[in-house]
Amino acid sequence: SETIGRQGEELSRVAFEEAQNYLPGGVNSPVRAFKSVGLTPIYADHGIGSRIYDIDGNQYIDYVGSWGPLIMGHAHPEVVKALQETAMKGTSFGLPTLLETKMAKLVAERVPSIDIVRMVNSGTEATMSAIRLARGYTGRNKIMKFEGSYHGHADSLLIKAGSGVATLGLPDSPGVPEGVAANTIAVPYNDLESVQLAFERFGEEIAGIIVEPVAGNMGVVPPLPGFLEGLRRLTTEYGSLLIFDEVMTGFRVHMNCAQGLYGVTPDLTCLGKVIGGGLPVGAYGGKREIMQQIAPTGPIYQAGTLSGNPLAMTAGFTTLSLLTPEVYDRLERLSAKLAAGIEANAKERGIPCSINRVGSMVCPFFTSDKVINYDTAKNSDLVSFRKYFAAMVEEGINIAPSQFEGMFVSGVHTDEDIDITIEAHRLALQKL
Ligand code: PMP
Repeated sequence: SETIGRQGEELSRVAFEEAQNYLPGGVNSPVRAFKSVGLTPIYADHGIGSRIYDIDGNQYIDYVGSWGPLIMGHAHPEVVKALQETAMKGTSFGLPTLLETKMAKLVAERVPSIDIVRMVNSGTEATMSAIRLARGYTGRNKIMKFEGSYHGHADSLLIKAGSGVATLGLPDSPGVPEGVAANTIAVPYNDLESVQLAFERFGEEIAGIIVEPVAGNMGVVPPLPGFLEGLRRLTTEYGSLLIFDEVMTGFRVHMNCAQGLYGVTPDLTCLGKVIGGGLPVGAYGGKREIMQQIAPTGPIYQAGTLSGNPLAMTAGFTTLSLLTPEVYDRLERLSAKLAAGIEANAKERGIPCSINRVGSMVCPFFTSDKVINYDTAKNSDLVSFRKYFAAMVEEGINIAPSQFEGMFVSGVHTDEDIDITIEAHRLALQKL
């Protein structure tokens, strides 16, 4: 294969300078500015399969996959072909289309908790709408979430959030009214006792718990045995709704999402990323009785000019159709191999490393302690991470510029990709 790695960045540097004249920080989403790692952002030019190419002509093996959606890699021929065919017929109508029902049917078939589903345009919209529905349905105002969990940037959920907020060290955001923040209760992930205490204190006021069934915005943090089951039991006991935010885990960790993997069924599920196959999509769905409280069947309002967009439905449907059991087996095998290689490299160099992995979500933390929540994730050595990130880019491996994000393996990564990545990782650790 051709050489990979960052050999020059002049064009990216110039592009970034120009962009800063017209876009806040030169970007449309903060982490892309590479601020916390102090590097020139990689300006994407094109992608094919597991590889991306920047405008300076450098090639990288990609483990970001557009932050999760590209589980079948870049420009998958079947997705591109389907998009072309749909685009020829028009890009948006604001009228119902057959594609929407076809997509909703597939989602309902695959996601245990979903009878019916409403399509939206991003993960943020999905969680924001699910929260409104939970509040409207229960007639209660408070929402419980977990420290270090990111559920998009809606006001009530931008409290003790992880991800880019964690990377920038902004626990809360100016512009979120105190009154809104006061209705959000944040407790430590994997800590059922805190959940129980919060219910004892606020029980009758809590509309629902929103949880990432595998936390993916404080690195990767799997649920401890019994955690999700405990949430299910407590929400039922207190008449609150259990909302799984599967924007990242949906169709990523299992064919039937994290709820299929762990066998715990929430009342509502939020989806995004993979179900859009790289186009802007989110969705929320659940029990028919609850979902029918949204307009037009019910009084809770939620709408969208481009919701259910034909191109988005096409990319999503085609991507989900490609996700066979064989693909999940492959994801599991390649991801296990990657994690084992990374672990062996760290051991060899005597570098503290604790790896969490659920399927194709892989996260090596620079700490020897087991990571089970946001506090333990924050024990990671962020100075080492920064050097490691720079070295990985130099070696041609595109990972998220944050310790609080995992690596996403795709169904089109090859054994050779994984071998090259493990070797690049070994060389990167030598530079620490
Ligand atoms: N929920 C989770 C679990 C996410 O990981 C994200 C995005 N990283 C979101 C919600 C928000 O999705 P979007 O960026 O599409 O608004």
